[in-house]
Amino acid sequence: MKHPKEEITFVLIKPDGVRKGLVGEIIKRFEQRDLKVVALEMFQPTHEQIDNHYPKDGAWITRLGQKTLKTYEKYGVDPLAELGTNKDVEIGKMVRKWLVDFMVSAPLVKMVVQGIHAVDVVRKIAGPTFGYQAEMGTIRGDFSIDSPLLANKEKRAVMNLIHASETPEEAEHEIEHWFGKGFKVHSYKRYGIDE
Ligand code: ATP
Ligand code: MG
Repeated sequence: MKHPKEEITFVLIKPDGVRKGLVGEIIKRFEQRDLKVVALEMFQPTHEQIDNHYPKDGAWITRLGQKTLKTYEKYGVDPLAELGTNKDVEIGKMVRKWLVDFMVSAPLVKMVVQGIHAVDVVRKIAGPTFGYQAEMGTIRGDFSIDSPLLANKEKRAVMNLIHASETPEEAEHEIEHWFGKGFKVHSYKRYGIDE
């Protein structure tokens, strides 16, 4: 088992994060929480790379659709009138396509972040998926306000500044996908954390 300080997670700064000039701000928030950036690069992803980044299984796609249906129910929107379907799988597929189109629309910044409970802490610093629900003090709560209600109306993905792995297993898989098999993170001792 890894030492607790060695847990790693994968983070992508999305097109809206890059285009809003938030690269430095986002990295700062991880570093100020005593997490270490142990790999970092800006790059232009291909359509295929993004398509392979997001899961393709039915369960994940259905969950994406269900999220939208829940929002529609809450705000009294008819999915059939708005999107032409009320099937979660169909809506999920639609959202996934918007997501891929969005993610290739500008360069991204990929990084590996390391530290105690890195996976959970990074997601906590990011805040929940939809900016309008994110608390102030989180990245999404301080710098975004998007909602699926608006995004679906505009036929695009919700813009929420960053992606962060949900579990250590997902992190491992995503780091391999984006940095290559056998990639070794950079190792250094941070003042106040490691010595
Ligand atoms: P991320 O994976 O980016 O960390 P997340 O895990 O909170 O966010 P997921 O459910 O994995 O969210 O969805 C992936 C991405 O798809 C979201 O970050 C968002 O950009 C977009 N998205 C999710 N649900 C919707 C929706 N209902 N309508 C439009 N876009 C959506
Ligand atoms: Mg996710």
